[in-house]
Amino acid sequence: MEMNEIVPKLKLYLLDMDGTLYLGDRLYPFTIEFLQAIRESGGHYLFMTNNSSKSVSAYIQKLAKFGIAATKEDFMTSSQATAYYLKKHHWGKTLYLCGTESFKQELEEQGFTVSSDISKTECIVMGFDTELTFQKLHDVSYLLLTQPDLPYIASNPDLVCPTEFGSVPDCGSVCHMIYNATGKKPIVIGKPEPLMPQLAMDKMGVKPEETCVIGDRIYTDVKSGLAAGTWTALVMSGETTPEILAQSSEKPHLVLQDAGLLIPYIKEKT
Ligand SMILES: [Mg+2]
Repeated sequence: MEMNEIVPKLKLYLLDMDGTLYLGDRLYPFTIEFLQAIRESGGHYLFMTNNSSKSVSAYIQKLAKFGIAATKEDFMTSSQATAYYLKKHHWGKTLYLCGTESFKQELEEQGFTVSSDISKTECIVMGFDTELTFQKLHDVSYLLLTQPDLPYIASNPDLVCPTEFGSVPDCGSVCHMIYNATGKKPIVIGKPEPLMPQLAMDKMGVKPEETCVIGDRIYTDVKSGLAAGTWTALVMSGETTPEILAQSSEKPHLVLQDAGLLIPYIKEKT
């Protein structure tokens, strides 16, 4: 497929952030024009990220430093998606959270009761918990072993999270520890699962054929889009090398040097 065949159909752009719009603390030169072009064409975009430890306000601050004005409504984070999923499927239940204080606040803002009292637990939620304690691992294991039918949800499957010095364990690694103890695997919300794109389309009222996931990773971004039936564009401005692309069995609909190459095709729509 070519850009001129796909872009005219698009109403919703689901954008990965790091490696797609910026790299670390460096904004790509095309990003502001790219976002403006989408809005001027009458389209919508959502920033789609697996990170559940940083609250949306931290992202809003980061984007503001780059000169990009954003509000909460412009995001689909794995913690927001988890809250949305919980509202749809487990509304009113008391949650046991293995996650950060900011994730807890996000769930409480959505109307959920979050309690560390395991006698009240009706659903277990795992996030990227930078405030993890052994007590939480103990509690989650206890709950899953004594109440095997308890709903068990994880915000994202990432095994590690990049830092300045390398990586630290992320939500997926903690879920592996729990699996080793209990044999239980959670329902996973974040990329590469299709739930985030599906919830985003649901929220914005658009169809898969009107939606494109754009990101720099095949095994998370592209995979989530393919699983949700959307168009997918892989950008080579981040993690993926031509070798990785050549070896991948998952093929994106578009491969672009960077997201800026879409700008003229988006502008053609206006
Ligand atoms: Mg990325």
